[in-house]
Amino acid sequence: MTTTPTEPSPLLLLELDRSRAPSSGPVPGLSGLTPETLGEWAASIGQPGYRARQILDGVWGALATRPEELRTLPAALRDTLAAQFRLDTLESSEVRPADGGLTEKVLHRLGDGALIESVVMHYPARGSRRERHTLCISSQAGCGVGCPFCATGELGFVRDLDAAEILDQVRHAARLLRERERRLTNVVFMGMGEPLLNPDPVFAAIEALTDPRRFGMGARHITVSTSGVVPGIRRLTALRPQFTLAVSLHAARDPLRDVLVPLNRRWPVAEVVAAARDHARITGRRVSYEVTLIDGINDTPRDADAMADLLRGGHGHVNLIPMNPVAHTPWRASPIETIEAFAERLQAAGIPITIRRNRGQDIGAACGQLAAERAGEPAPAAVSRRRERLVAESAAALRGERSTTPAPAGTEG
Ligand code: SAH
Ligand code: SF4
Repeated sequence: MTTTPTEPSPLLLLELDRSRAPSSGPVPGLSGLTPETLGEWAASIGQPGYRARQILDGVWGALATRPEELRTLPAALRDTLAAQFRLDTLESSEVRPADGGLTEKVLHRLGDGALIESVVMHYPARGSRRERHTLCISSQAGCGVGCPFCATGELGFVRDLDAAEILDQVRHAARLLRERERRLTNVVFMGMGEPLLNPDPVFAAIEALTDPRRFGMGARHITVSTSGVVPGIRRLTALRPQFTLAVSLHAARDPLRDVLVPLNRRWPVAEVVAAARDHARITGRRVSYEVTLIDGINDTPRDADAMADLLRGGHGHVNLIPMNPVAHTPWRASPIETIEAFAERLQAAGIPITIRRNRGQDIGAACGQLAAERAGEPAPAAVSRRRERLVAESAAALRGERSTTPAPAGTEG
C-alpha cells in the first residue's frame, strides 16, 4: 500500500539514500521467505528438499545475520544464498538503554537509509508472574495517519516496511536477549507506523512469528495495535488464532476523535468498536483500548461518560496513559487527579482499567521518538503554524463540529 503525507512534513529529512538501492529493486530479505518459497528456491537450484529446513534453522534457530553463521550449509550454497538474499535487512542497529536499563531503544537504519526503531522492555518477575521481555516493533517508516500528539505522526509517512524488515527487528531483539540467556516473550506492533495500513507484510510477519517451523511464538503473545483500520481488524479476526488487538481509542466522540486520530474521518469510532467487539467475541480475547489523556482536551467527565457508553458490555480493558509531550503540540498531559477521576467513571460503568504511569509512556510514546530526534527540529514557523492549527481544530471539536479535513491519504479504498 502506498500512502503519502497529507502535506509535506517539515521533518521529512530521513536521508533516503536512493543511490544505494539497486536499480533492479532491493535484494529480498531472507527472513521474509516462507518455508514453501524456500523449498521452491532450493529445488530451482537443484538442491535437495532438506536444504530449506537447514536454512530455516539458520534464520530462526541460529538467528544468523552472516553467511558463515549458516553452519550446516555447504560453503558454495551459503555463497549462492548470500548473493540472492540479504541475511539481515537492518544495515545498522544502535541500542540505547533508558529507564535504568528496563527499556532499550534501538534505532535501525534500513538498506535505503530510512530510519525506524524498536524498543525492548524488560519486566522483572513479580510474585507468581515470570519475567517478561517485550519487543515493540515498527511496521512503517514514519506514519501517514498523523495523530497530532504522536512523534511518528508528526514525522509523516516515509514508506512501508516489507516482511523481512519487520521480522529482522524481532531477530535482532532475540539475539540481544540470547546473549544474556534470556528469551523474547512478547511482541507488540506499537512502534512506528500503522500496521493495518501495511497489511500484507504485517500479516506475513505474524504468520512467520507464530509458525512453529520459524519463530514459533504463541499468538496470545502478539499484540497488534491499530488506530482503527476496520478492514484490517476484520482480517486479523478472520485468522482465528488469539492475537491480542489493541485499539488506540483516545476519544469516544467523533468530532474530537477526528482531530486526535484522523483515521476516524474514514472509519468512525462506532464502526471501530463494533469490529473490536466482534474480535473479542470470536477469539475470546479481551481487546485493549489505549487512551492517551490530554489536559482539557479529552479528559473531561463528559468524555469519560461517552467512553463508558461506547464500551459497555465487558469485551475490553482500557489503558489510560498520560500524554508524553514528544510531538510539537499546544497540549500537556492530564494531571493524575483528572486521570483518576476519569478512571473512576469508567470503573463505575463496569469497565476494567489500568493507569499506566511511566512504562506506558515508554510503550506508547518512546516509539517514534528516536527517529524523530534524528530528523532534527522543525523550523519554528512550522511548529507555531502546527500549534495554531491544533488549537483551532480542537476548539471546533470541543464545540461538537465535525472536521472537514479529508481522511489521511491511502485510506480511501
Ligand atoms: N499506529 C498504531 C501503533 C503505534 S502507536 C496505533 O496508533 O495504534 C502506539 C500507541 O502509542 C498508540 O496507542 C498511540 O496512540 C500511543 N501514543 C503515541 N504518541 C503518544 C504520546 N505522545 N503519549 C502517549 N501515547 C502516545
Ligand atoms: Fe500513526 Fe499510531 Fe502515531 Fe497515530 S499514534 S500517528 S496511527 S503511529
